[in-house]
Amino acid sequence: MIRHEAGHYCVIWISTKAVEPSVCSAAEHLLRKDGNVRAEWLPVVEAMAFSKLVASEVLGQAVKVVLILPDATAKNPVENLYHWVHSLEEHPFLAPTVHAALERARDLFVAVNGIPDRTQAEVARRVEQLRRHRAEGIRPSPQLGYHCRNCVYRGCPDFEICWGDRAGDPQHMFDLHQLYAVKDADGWNPLATPLIRAGKSSMYDLPDEAIAKSAHSARQEIQLAHTRPGKEWIDPGLKPALESLQYPLHFYDCETWRTVIPPYEGLRP
Ligand code: SF4
Repeated sequence: MIRHEAGHYCVIWISTKAVEPSVCSAAEHLLRKDGNVRAEWLPVVEAMAFSKLVASEVLGQAVKVVLILPDATAKNPVENLYHWVHSLEEHPFLAPTVHAALERARDLFVAVNGIPDRTQAEVARRVEQLRRHRAEGIRPSPQLGYHCRNCVYRGCPDFEICWGDRAGDPQHMFDLHQLYAVKDADGWNPLATPLIRAGKSSMYDLPDEAIAKSAHSARQEIQLAHTRPGKEWIDPGLKPALESLQYPLHFYDCETWRTVIPPYEGLRP
């Protein structure tokens, strides 16, 4: 979303991934202690940096970028907030009431302003490189790494253009649960990237010591122990948990509610 405010444009990004500002500030959720963007937020922050670059070029002036994040600890103070917002389409005369309701609900969200300089500079460098390659008719060589996990071509034959035979590894590293948590020796970046660049692709290429240090080692070790032999694993706690249930049971599918705005007063985003 782009908004024109007080003489400049602002590109607004909205994330559905909530943060807990009581644990650390919204900016600290995005950044590591060394000032670099955390791996799980990098695609979002790079996309923000790209949008800033494009918007500044198209509009011919400096552009600000803001990321809005839901605060998982805040509680909605307005009953039926979501429906108030939607009623605007049919009943524009309700605008003052709805805006007053939104003002009260402001604390449901926190904002992160700006993009780290080094991320912006890196995105600008890559854009320049692509421009040069296009002008000179050069086909860039693929830079394989952890980021390929979310490549739009993954699962399509075109993934093989970059990955060759390794695209179809039946025990692909990318299928490991929470692969990002298996870090390199510095403990910052996913170990997958250097391994992939060294020609590896299987989840069994990840060293045991690195898995043991992962924040998700328990599930990863279960997956590794059962994938290669093709064995099913059933958590021993599942049977007693199922037996302890009291019928009738009622189910609520959280995915049926797709808005980040809590519907009722007192609920969190
Ligand atoms: S598979 Fe190729 S196109 Fe996809 S992210 Fe990796 S390098 Fe880029």
